[in-house]
Amino acid sequence: MSSIIQLLPDHVANQIAAGEVVQRPASVVKELLENAVDAKATDIKLIIKDAGKSLVQVIDNGVGMTVTDARLCFARHATSKIRQAEDLFSLGTKGFRGEALASIAAIAHMEMKTKQDQDELGTHIVIEGSKFVSQEVAVLPKGTSFAVKNLFFNIPARRNFLKSDTVEFRHVMDEFQRVALAHPNIHFSFYHNGSELYNLPSAGYRQRIVGIMSGKTNEKLVPVNEDTEIINIQGFVCKPEFAKKSRGEQFFFVNDRFIKSGYLHHAVMAAYDGLLKDGMQPSYFLYLQVPPNTIDINIHPTKTEIKFDDESALYAILRASIKHSLGQFNVAPVLDFERDANLDTPYHYKDLEAETPTIQVDGNFNPFTDDKTNQHYSKGSSGSGYSSGSSLSSSSSGSSYSGSSYSGYSKRVEPTVSWESLYVGLDTENPETIESSPFTFENEEVTSSLFNDDEVEQASQKTYQIHKKYIVSPIKSGMIIVDQQRAHQRILYEQFLLNMTVNQASSQQLLFPLDLFYSTVEMKLIEELKPSLETTGFIFEDAKTDHIVISGIPVNITESEVSIVIDQLLSDLQDGIPANSYSQNDTIAKSMAKSLAVKTGSYLTEKEQDNLVNGLFACKDPNISPFQKPTFITMRVEDIDKKFAL
Ligand code: ADP
Ligand code: MG
Repeated sequence: MSSIIQLLPDHVANQIAAGEVVQRPASVVKELLENAVDAKATDIKLIIKDAGKSLVQVIDNGVGMTVTDARLCFARHATSKIRQAEDLFSLGTKGFRGEALASIAAIAHMEMKTKQDQDELGTHIVIEGSKFVSQEVAVLPKGTSFAVKNLFFNIPARRNFLKSDTVEFRHVMDEFQRVALAHPNIHFSFYHNGSELYNLPSAGYRQRIVGIMSGKTNEKLVPVNEDTEIINIQGFVCKPEFAKKSRGEQFFFVNDRFIKSGYLHHAVMAAYDGLLKDGMQPSYFLYLQVPPNTIDINIHPTKTEIKFDDESALYAILRASIKHSLGQFNVAPVLDFERDANLDTPYHYKDLEAETPTIQVDGNFNPFTDDKTNQHYSKGSSGSGYSSGSSLSSSSSGSSYSGSSYSGYSKRVEPTVSWESLYVGLDTENPETIESSPFTFENEEVTSSLFNDDEVEQASQKTYQIHKKYIVSPIKSGMIIVDQQRAHQRILYEQFLLNMTVNQASSQQLLFPLDLFYSTVEMKLIEELKPSLETTGFIFEDAKTDHIVISGIPVNITESEVSIVIDQLLSDLQDGIPANSYSQNDTIAKSMAKSLAVKTGSYLTEKEQDNLVNGLFACKDPNISPFQKPTFITMRVEDIDKKFAL
């Protein structure tokens, strides 16, 4: 029997390898940029067309290749960077697998020009789908130029798999930024469809970071410096107040290589412990140098994940040094031992002590209840007495500094409450009195209106806010409970969508135009979103390179909300802008509704509650929020009856 195993022809093997190395135009960008860096270039130019789908070109002024190497570099496992396995543990170069060029050449049309300094003439090679088309001598400057055209021309499935230009461009931008940030001493320039996006002169870390991100970045940065035997850390973290909702600007470089590490990210976040609002992400640019033999880079085809010998030590050092930096720059709370703590009055208490205790509003006092209940009650009374002045909706502020008052409060609303107290609310003609009483009588108000049989008409108009979260309103069949945040999202969402589709949103002109600074990537996104944003009422003045100028905003937004809205939008669009305009409008409307809707925890006046409920039911689709969550529930009287029948 003849043997059935055959060696794959090289071009097939190369195509298979390409599957690992080349996923998208950005992969080509990464490999070519890294090769240029490895070739000791001091000037690297990246030129792309159509997000890299039709062209990726990298031109460097590095060492170039001899005629022989120029041909050999396309062979699989052909590398000048390591000679033996041991070299893997003392790597000083980005590449070492000798796979990239072979892989790219297998799935694209590729043209290379290269010349070494000492040579008179250079080499010009054309290779398509692993086949050499031509090789000529040519007059060239020192260095190498690779042009990669028609990526995946011979693998239509892969080509179809590519995302929109916006998404692919973003990936290219990410790769460019990573390499440019890792090598500030190299002059980088970047052109897309003929326009220059970056021109970054050789610089230090700080200047490079500012050059890549935006002009405003400089003032946000806090330097980090630490030198120990096992690691040297340099770089910058951002002041906590500049943290963002998106994780966009977080970079680790290990021995000049961008890497991803959830573990080290955690160390950074731990250093910020207590300094960030929930869900906020600090930007950071951290350059770690470790002895090459203490890491393994060869665990991932794209080399963005590496293994450290002593991860936990690195974690501790990283965390401590960032904490130290944040403290030094006065951004972490500082303990002051000189100070007599007794002299410090927390603002809460300072304000509260000035309040007159509102004992006279003790409407619920019931001499007939047993001592235990009474005690609960009086505890609650004094606790909320404090909070009465600070805000009308005192339930949460009361609970924040007095656990007992809260438990007293919740105890009170259990069905065991005395019959007399149920009438307290009813006796009160003026709802204002109830609201300004030391308790938030939310539950009782509801109770009282349920009892108001003779005033059904009026009662059905009424709304009550409970726990700064729900709006309760009696209806004929029982009551509805509206989730204020979701309801408002629905209202705003429909408003924005309508404005966008009929294109007649009104704007409010700003007295002083707003300047908002963004990174190049963000600016690009905003540029694409502009037409849609304008239909919501935004008015943009001519765009600058690193900031936008807004002279008019939608009527339902305040000036201070503008940056929140745009930040949210940018973070929602991290995965790209939907291609068709309907879903683009939809995404924007959703995002804006999300950032502008009243949040759980906001106190709403009676008028606002009323508007909210009416606004919700004027919606086309009042039942669900734009994010497919229920906006309200109803409770029929029968349901309530059942509960009491127990
Ligand atoms: P690797 O970078 O892993 O060695 P590549 O396939 O990316 O593998 O490149 C193969 C070889 O081609 C490199 O080892 C290097 O000798 C040569 N080479 C690639 N790009 C350049 C360049 N821009 N300038 C000089 N030599 C290059
Ligand atoms: Mg390489």
